[in-house]
Amino acid sequence: MKQSEASILHVCKSVSHITDASQLYHAILHNPTPISLRCNPNKLDIPADLEKVPWSSYGMYLPKRPVFTLDPLFHAGAYYVQEASSMFLEQIVAPLAVSKPLKVLDVCAAPGGKSTHVISLLQRGSLLVANEVIRSRAHILSENIIKWGKSNCVVTNNDPKDFSFLSGFFDIVIVDAPCSGEGMFRKDPAAIEEWSPAHIDLCSKRQMRILSDIWDALAPGGTLIYSTCTFNEIENEKVVQAFIEQTGAICDSVQCLPEWNITEHVYKQAVCYRFFPHKTKGEGFCISVIKKQNGNSYVPPKRIPQAKNITIIPEKNRLHFSNLIQHHQSIVYERQKDVLWSFSKDYRKFLLDIFLHCNIIHAGIPLVHIQGHKLNPMPGLAFANSFNASILPRLDVDLETALRYFKKEALIIEGMSKGWIQLTYKGVSIGFVKNIGNRANNPYPQEWSIKMTLRKDDMWSILT
Ligand code: SAM
Repeated sequence: MKQSEASILHVCKSVSHITDASQLYHAILHNPTPISLRCNPNKLDIPADLEKVPWSSYGMYLPKRPVFTLDPLFHAGAYYVQEASSMFLEQIVAPLAVSKPLKVLDVCAAPGGKSTHVISLLQRGSLLVANEVIRSRAHILSENIIKWGKSNCVVTNNDPKDFSFLSGFFDIVIVDAPCSGEGMFRKDPAAIEEWSPAHIDLCSKRQMRILSDIWDALAPGGTLIYSTCTFNEIENEKVVQAFIEQTGAICDSVQCLPEWNITEHVYKQAVCYRFFPHKTKGEGFCISVIKKQNGNSYVPPKRIPQAKNITIIPEKNRLHFSNLIQHHQSIVYERQKDVLWSFSKDYRKFLLDIFLHCNIIHAGIPLVHIQGHKLNPMPGLAFANSFNASILPRLDVDLETALRYFKKEALIIEGMSKGWIQLTYKGVSIGFVKNIGNRANNPYPQEWSIKMTLRKDDMWSILT
């Protein structure tokens, strides 16, 4: 038996008291990985002919894996490629989001699967802070958040303990923890190579540390959602149990329909929802809901914080920027010189406070770069759901032109006036170009651009 198979067998045996180890072993080695994605409800309806992910209103399975990079709508934030089990988060967040706007912190957020899902579930007036401790990953998270197009989002690059200044602030904290990745064995063979019992031990200690560091930021009565993509109990039930013993918190249950084949597993007071690939159509996943009984309530700073590197533009000066977005209940602020963003007025104090304490990668909606008399729209503005599309001429382009835009090529635009033009593909906004006559300059960010060759045979779109 190969070393990789021995590791898989070891993992399967470790959960034989929860599920059938031989069926799990067979599924990891032989069953194909289901391909699934989640639609952005502001940009795309689920195509009617595709199989739905039963526990998510926005999730669907594809019959085979296409080259996602060669669909313009993938780059436009019209959907997010995400494995189906993770979408179960919706069953926990959606009921909480019905009654009021919520403040949510996603502590381990990159590349943004859970964050983009959660912001689709929150009602207007809510706030999402998506945090990622690894800087390069925080930038990928930021790209995905900007493209998802919602306004009240902040992307930070901090250690979980840095949020202690927001004691009792969040209604929901999500810890989708770094783990030993056993649930990804089928999808990612590299996860098998990295696996070892010592790694499980290291991961469980780190998971406890993250939970302990972030606990104070959760409001009394708030909900902590803990998840991993691993099978063993050491990183799941045992972490949850140790944590509730430490804090006096309690686990909550989640309604599951029997046909979903999700395995509820109880260990002492810890309640975990298990996704096994031989039973549920998705990858290995485990999620638990922990309720905070009591603790500190949030006390806002008495004075408006003196934030570094950020200036709120006075009301009278910002008026001509407000027509860039549809709802004007926002402040306009400047962070880098001559680059303006907008953010909800309701969270003005919070914005200043978080700029003071955190390493902010992105906040709100990017608006414009001011160059002398010229206002150049920021590429991210094109993806904002609230962008006021009536202010620029618009051109719907074909599949190949849309992909050339995302490859950052200069385009030739005929029959349109000179100046800024908004491009769309199948009606979904993809970006801006500046038409200078013989060609149109393309300001799409280099770091977001397509690096692969555009092979015509592989070009496609989820919307045919
Ligand atoms: N929630 C993400 C999603 O749905 O797309 C996936 C998160 S992934 C399972 C775990 C993340 O935790 C990784 O991005 C990793 O960089 C981050 N991480 C690693 N060590 C960490 C630590 N000590 N504290 C907080 N986050 C950490």
